[in-house]
Amino acid sequence: MSDLIPSITIENFKKLEVSEIRNLKALEVTDNGEFIFTAVIPHGDFSSSDYVRIQAEYLSVKANMVGGVDPEVTTEVICEECGKPCASEFGLKSHMRSHEVKENATV
Ligand SMILES: [Zn+2]
Repeated sequence: MSDLIPSITIENFKKLEVSEIRNLKALEVTDNGEFIFTAVIPHGDFSSSDYVRIQAEYLSVKANMVGGVDPEVTTEVICEECGKPCASEFGLKSHMRSHEVKENATV
């Protein structure tokens, strides 16, 4: 976790109202102490928010080149084997691998 900016858990981040998010400092959002993403909230005049967006967009394009799924396909899917809800088709695929590993281990 960063020593320079504050952090918040994803549970607490989800509880925030839009007006509360607008007032926050930039922060790291974590789950069980593990980094998920950085939320950069612009403050000040329009030129500073444009600057934040351009810088964040630049970093996001680089991150997107490596992976990730589009937001439209992140609808919840239920595992047919154990009923576990997965956040996306991609999440289901990686979850199904845990079943394969278990099956192979018992054989
Ligand atoms: Zn399952």
